[in-house]
Amino acid sequence: MLNIVLFGPPGAGKGTQSTKLIEKYNLIHLSTGDIFRANIKGETELGKMAKSYMDQGKLVPDSLTIDMLQDEADKHPDAKGYIFDGFPRTNAQAKALDDFLATKNSAITMMLALEVTEDELRTRLAERAKTSGRPDDADPQIIQKRIDVYNAETMPVKGYYEAQNKYRGVQGVGDINDIFISLCNEVDLKN
Ligand code: ADP
Repeated sequence: MLNIVLFGPPGAGKGTQSTKLIEKYNLIHLSTGDIFRANIKGETELGKMAKSYMDQGKLVPDSLTIDMLQDEADKHPDAKGYIFDGFPRTNAQAKALDDFLATKNSAITMMLALEVTEDELRTRLAERAKTSGRPDDADPQIIQKRIDVYNAETMPVKGYYEAQNKYRGVQGVGDINDIFISLCNEVDLKN
C-alpha cells in the first residue's frame, strides 16, 4: 500500500494537492476536516460535537477524531492506499494511526509536508474566506488561533515521522503544478 500523510499548516494547499495525488496514484482521500464538515452539514451527533471546537479554531479531541478516521478508512477495505489530509494533527493521533495500520499489516509510507510561511498563510486564508463559507476562515483571530494551535500541537508530528525517516518537505509556494511535480518526485522515490 501507498499511505501518505499530507502535512502542512492551515492554508498550505493540502486539499488542492490531495485531489491531484489521489487521481495520479489511485488513492482514497481521507480529510478529517472534510469529514467533520460533512457531519456538521448532516447535523449528526459527531458534527454537533466537532463544530464547537472547529468554530473556535481548536482541535477536536483525539478520541473522537481517531474513532471517526478509523471508521472512514474501514469503509474502503480494497483501497490501494490512502492520503491522510489534516490527520494526524497530534502525536497521539500519529501513534494511533500506526497501530491501526499495523492491524492491517500496513504502515505509513511517508509524510509529505507543504512548507509555507505564516504571512502567506494569513493572506491565503483571508482570500479563501471570500468563497469557502467556512466560519473558521472568516475571522482573523480564529485564523491566528489555528496557526498557533498548529505550531504548538501539530508541528511535533513532524518529529514523529522524522524519527522514522519518513518526513519529506516540499516548498509549498509557487505554481500549483510545480508543487505537484515536486510531491510526485518524492512519492516516486518511495513507490
Ligand atoms: P485547515 O487545515 O485549513 O485548518 P481542516 O479542514 O483540515 O482545515 O480542519 C478544520 C478544523 O477541523 C480544524 O481547525 C480542527 O478544528 C478540525 N480538525 C480537522 N482535522 C483534525 C484532527 N486531525 N484533529 C483534531 N481536529 C481536527
